[in-house]
Amino acid sequence: MKVFLNAGHAPDGNPDPGACGYGLRECDVAKNVADLVAGYLVAAGVEVVGNLQSDSLHEVVSASNNSDADVFVSIHCNACNGTANGTEVWHFYGSGEGEKLSSCIQNQIVDALGTVDRGVKGAKPGANGLYVLSNTNAVAVLVELAFIDHAGDAELLNSRQDEFARAIARGVTDYEGEC
Ligand SMILES: [Zn+2]
Repeated sequence: MKVFLNAGHAPDGNPDPGACGYGLRECDVAKNVADLVAGYLVAAGVEVVGNLQSDSLHEVVSASNNSDADVFVSIHCNACNGTANGTEVWHFYGSGEGEKLSSCIQNQIVDALGTVDRGVKGAKPGANGLYVLSNTNAVAVLVELAFIDHAGDAELLNSRQDEFARAIARGVTDYEGEC
């Protein structure tokens, strides 16, 4: 199984750091977690065919499709109003495989980190369609690790990136085992 990883937003936050909170930038958390996931997947014998952070979503999608990836995982942090918290994983609406992969990753993160389980969600084109889910050939998911603007979640995002990464890697290998 070939896996393509995408840390959300722009490298070094230029021009887009994503969401920010409690001294953290989404771009930095996502990049570090993606790099750690890559290491854990390789250690587990999974082929990582890409690990790209780019402000150009077209570039990200093209690179994933050109890599012939089976699985695409985009890593982000959520933000809302400072009170919302928890983990959610998105897939392309109606994709059974995407929903399965989402559930594997969601369950591992919630179990490992104790975050609020906001569930897996299907992104509908035209409504809340997420570009990277709609345009990748691979089974694609977008992981919202936790809320960067929530005090408790931000603490987890700051201090437990390694556990988030291990959980995502386990979710991917769980999914592979079910196929
Ligand atoms: Zn994001």
